[in-house]
Amino acid sequence: MINNMHLPASLMTSLSKINSFDRDAFVQVHESGEQVVSVRMNPLKRSMVNGEWSIGNDQSAKLNNQELIHHSPFTFHAPVPWSSNGYYLSERPLFTLDPLLHAGAYYVQEASSMFVEEAIKQTVDLSQPLLVLDLCAAPGGKSTLLQSVISKESLLVSNEVIQSRVNILKENITKWGADNVVVTNNDPSAFSKLSGLFDVLVIDAPCSGSGLFRRDPEAINEWSEANVELCSQRQQRILADAWPCLKEDGVLIYSTCSYSAEEDEEILDWLEERFEVEGLRLRVNDEWKIDEVQSASGAYGYRFWPNKVKGEGFFIVAFRKKETPSPLRIKIKKNQEPAKKDAAIAAQWMQIADAYSFVMQGQIIAAVPTAWHDMIQFLMQELKVRYAGIELGSIAKNDLLPEHALALSTNVNSKVVRVELTKEQALDYLRKNDLQLDHPHKGWALATYNGLGLGWMKLLGNRMNNYYPKEWRILMR
Ligand code: SAM
Repeated sequence: MINNMHLPASLMTSLSKINSFDRDAFVQVHESGEQVVSVRMNPLKRSMVNGEWSIGNDQSAKLNNQELIHHSPFTFHAPVPWSSNGYYLSERPLFTLDPLLHAGAYYVQEASSMFVEEAIKQTVDLSQPLLVLDLCAAPGGKSTLLQSVISKESLLVSNEVIQSRVNILKENITKWGADNVVVTNNDPSAFSKLSGLFDVLVIDAPCSGSGLFRRDPEAINEWSEANVELCSQRQQRILADAWPCLKEDGVLIYSTCSYSAEEDEEILDWLEERFEVEGLRLRVNDEWKIDEVQSASGAYGYRFWPNKVKGEGFFIVAFRKKETPSPLRIKIKKNQEPAKKDAAIAAQWMQIADAYSFVMQGQIIAAVPTAWHDMIQFLMQELKVRYAGIELGSIAKNDLLPEHALALSTNVNSKVVRVELTKEQALDYLRKNDLQLDHPHKGWALATYNGLGLGWMKLLGNRMNNYYPKEWRILMR
């Protein structure tokens, strides 16, 4: 718990200039110590126990999701009103000790930021196959959300500039188990040359973080006016670098978790001044208590105050690009494809292989949607691609050494032997212990929990070798 003495005085002074700011309520909500906990379900994985999670009636998708929650140590509270798959929980469980988290069945995400779903749904025709860039993506909250709202014919490029943060992004994308995501590790400037390539550009910008003060009081000590200024400059640089890669009539979604106008409304004015844009007005239900604001240039923005909404501080805006970018020639210089015979060996591990083509990611064969094969080859040539499609594995002695990502994908061949684990066994497996298992099969098997893949094991009679990635293992007892 904190008290108002700790909220930076200069922040409070600057916020009092914002019409919708209610100082007393803002201070009170920070003093209350109340924690809002929310998760977002993964629609790809919801229907994995004998085809469904629910007890098998005519429940809607939402109720199926609730049913999933009964399998977890959650107390379900209410749906997040602006999200199809988001739910508030009554209290924070020990997420680390829930195998479903590690199986990618859900993502723990702050509720306000789930509004990205509404922003994209209201401004983009999601029935089309789209190329979407999430430029500042680690650890992957917005990317996993975007993957769930775009069509399966679309492709998401999920980028993170900081190398040490790409690993957690890759881990979360892998757990999500989709086949239409590419993870890259590039500075925003690397996207300038990809002129007019993307239909949608999401920039969840690095910011001064005041919106998370309630959840993370430590962040208060790191806050300063100088840092707000630094963040504002950085946000402008990121936007300027990435702007050319957005198509004409493409949509930019910009968000921060900062309350400072320098990072929010003033960025909108900077964008309006510098580029040809159309600010997009979003529909917000009055009951959501989200504040619509207008910047000096008239652009609409959406502020989330924790004393009004059930969520943390957040700011979001959508623009349509009204400029014609210079033309881009997509020329693939070098194909990075596996030998046909190796691709055929790898394809046998997939339930559905028809709609896929194969690319090499180093030594690993990855299956990518055929419709995006050339684009992914192009991206591999132009960017530092760290992950693409479904990583299947590498070939050794005419056999596949399966990659962990294949275990987490929803496309493992049903002929692959599965070993369903109890919760205790699953946690033991996730700690990378070798379990005592009596099983007639010898060789590779998929460890599952509630029907969802957790990772690979090699069965050896009455014991097994555990192939769970060492760097992902649970350390908590
Ligand atoms: N979108 C993420 C999510 O929902 O999980 C959170 C993104 S966080 C607000 C901002 C990200 O921008 C961080 O991962 C940070 O490493 C990255 N970043 C920091 N400096 C950057 C820069 N100069 N250019 C681009 N991204 C940057």
